Amino acid sequence: MKWIYDLSLNELKNEIAALGLRDFISDQVFQWIYQKNVQNIKLWSNISKYNRELFLKQYSTLLNRLIDKIEDKLGTKKFLIELEDKNRIESVLIKEKNHYTFCISSQVGCALNCAFCATGKMGFIRNLSSGEILSQILILQKEIYDYNGKINIVFMGMGEPLLNYKNLKKALSIITSEKGIDFSPKNITVSTAGILNYIKQIEKDFPNIKISLSLNAPDNQIREQLMPVSKKENINNILDYFRNYKRKYKITFEYVLIKGINDSIQDAKKISQLLRRILCKINLIPYNENTNIEFKTPSKKNIEAFKEYLCLKGYTVVLRWSKGKDIKSACGQLATQIKEN
Ligand code: SF4
Repeated sequence: MKWIYDLSLNELKNEIAALGLRDFISDQVFQWIYQKNVQNIKLWSNISKYNRELFLKQYSTLLNRLIDKIEDKLGTKKFLIELEDKNRIESVLIKEKNHYTFCISSQVGCALNCAFCATGKMGFIRNLSSGEILSQILILQKEIYDYNGKINIVFMGMGEPLLNYKNLKKALSIITSEKGIDFSPKNITVSTAGILNYIKQIEKDFPNIKISLSLNAPDNQIREQLMPVSKKENINNILDYFRNYKRKYKITFEYVLIKGINDSIQDAKKISQLLRRILCKINLIPYNENTNIEFKTPSKKNIEAFKEYLCLKGYTVVLRWSKGKDIKSACGQLATQIKEN
């Protein structure tokens, strides 16, 4: 039996044609699963009983299994989701002042092994399929089913999204399609450790989706220690590309401030030099401590001084105290038991 969420609209149209059904039924099916978020085929009232039964024999429409949900005091919720092969991933629903943010995973674990990140410590297990990416969004939407306001989607959960580009692209096409979930690409951010070829590709494929780069160091040398990917992907090449490619939005640089590693005023000076002539904003994220990683959160005084220096140099700087720290759902804290034994 095929899992419907792994099919693009064109793939579904081909399957529908092979079943001898009329083309418009695939649009109706997309409406039920993505726009109405209804998985029970029996409720698909505008499709005939005969066609529904035919469908039921061919396709599974169930979402991945939600096995746990924890909420912190501010309303941030972490969802533990089990995949078909029993691997587990986490997604986070963040309640902001005027909107919600969905933080979505793209891989089980991550190969990039950034020194400050709990997901990196899991190692790489596998890429998520496009359906497994979409399923997280539908599960989070169910949680706020009566909410009609703005939702941002950020690919900042487990994994490096651009190293799963084929499936990410397929999922993004459904997320942004009028016949699919129909989210504005302007409300979607893909966060990357810096995979230059795929940054170029996604900017061509989805020019309105925003890119956010995890910078985290004032030069490539310190970055190599924090983010081994910098040995292959030199930060200066990525920044040159950002400087020279014309886009409609500001690049966001995420900078996790770690005590004694990258939080000095000297570091802020280097950052100010490094990012010159790039239309950008900088998100400063005080490190969220993890029990099995030795790094520490800097003092508030150092954090404020770092921020002030960059502001004085003319940068737009946002200090982001991560939400969901007490439920281990803040930046760099997502890591789950891999398989139920
Ligand atoms: S920070 Fe992102 S890229 Fe680095 S190990 Fe964690 S999940 Fe992977």
